Amino acid sequence: MNAPMRRGACPGLSAPMATGDGLLARLTPAGSTIPLAAFAGLCAAAQRRGNGVIEITSRGSIQFRGLTQVSAADFAAEVSDLGIPASDGIPVIVDPLSGLDCGNVFDAEPVANELRRALTSAPLTSRLSAKLSVAIDGGGPLHLDELSADIRLRAMQSDGEPDFHVALGGGATSAVPLGVIAAHRAVECAMRLIEVLATLAPQSRMRHAVETVGIDGFKSALDRMMAAAAVPAPRAKADPVGVHALRSGDVAIGIAPSFGHSDAESLHSLVDLAAHVQAAGLRTAPKRALLLVGIPANLAADVVAAAKAMNFIVEASDPRRRVIACAGAPICSAGQIPSRALAPVVADVLNGTEAPGFVHISGCVKGCAYPAAAPMTIVGRNGACEIYRGDDRVGSATVDTLPEQLGRLIRVRS
Ligand code: SF4
Repeated sequence: MNAPMRRGACPGLSAPMATGDGLLARLTPAGSTIPLAAFAGLCAAAQRRGNGVIEITSRGSIQFRGLTQVSAADFAAEVSDLGIPASDGIPVIVDPLSGLDCGNVFDAEPVANELRRALTSAPLTSRLSAKLSVAIDGGGPLHLDELSADIRLRAMQSDGEPDFHVALGGGATSAVPLGVIAAHRAVECAMRLIEVLATLAPQSRMRHAVETVGIDGFKSALDRMMAAAAVPAPRAKADPVGVHALRSGDVAIGIAPSFGHSDAESLHSLVDLAAHVQAAGLRTAPKRALLLVGIPANLAADVVAAAKAMNFIVEASDPRRRVIACAGAPICSAGQIPSRALAPVVADVLNGTEAPGFVHISGCVKGCAYPAAAPMTIVGRNGACEIYRGDDRVGSATVDTLPEQLGRLIRVRS
């Protein structure tokens, strides 16, 4: 296997990253439903080869912690044997109920698979940022508007034919819009944009490239395939946590582990629950969620109640959903404060309040769990908690005095 990766790159299965509790490996599912037996196999491998901690990230990847130099290769081989389709290399992320939900304009998954194949055979990787990503949104209700991506394709219906709106570097409201292309040219479009990026601004993220070399090179690469179009209207926020109708008449039930992390045993119990109601399998979703797919609608309430009894989050309004926390100290060796241990404390402070929206707890200045400015951020620096509202520093506290200080700041504002 490869040597452990440098921090900042993406820790895939074959190149795990060293952190405070051993090596961390990441699996980015391709978007199709993971059969229950395969998901149970993931849990078993995580328990056998790592410390059993499993995380669902804000981009819907699955992270496995506590691997060792010896066990990581065996873990990668075991996961590979499970045959779970995954993005290996540049993540190509599709809307989480792609091909299944009621309001989809276009099934994004086949397009994503074709793009993954094209990327695998293109000799570009060494000239691309390790953090590059592509979002392909089929236009369904559980959309990807809030997910930031270097290239965004959003399916739309025009004159009865599906096409894709294309934008660069950001979320739906912040990305730089380019125009629309016919759906059958989506892969060609993405590959041309990536080639231009690799040529004009090697190793850059798309946003930085557009700001430094301009948009013209990207536009001219799509000259003959792109038409001008209005920027699509932003959609109402979508939360994967909840019950979602499927075209089949069944439902998908979105649940979330508290603060995005769980363990092999708890997730195995969730698989058992899904098996009990003959669910088709699980999918991951952005915003640190899991979807139990293909559950008879008349059993949804029972499944939600059972998942809640297992301490999974089953309601989007749960205050734990308003805290985004990285692992922090001592799990991450760079951590200055114990972000994960502070998360439930901060959720308690937020319970019953509207402001400040959500809070990001970052164990150090790197901000892995939420790279943008949050309404409120707690940053670990020199063992203390610095508190920011947007970009403005508004206070500081020790780990022990944080709840009181945070509560005071929130009360003053609201
Ligand atoms: S932000 Fe959190 S996870 Fe990222 S390096 Fe800092 S402590 Fe570690």
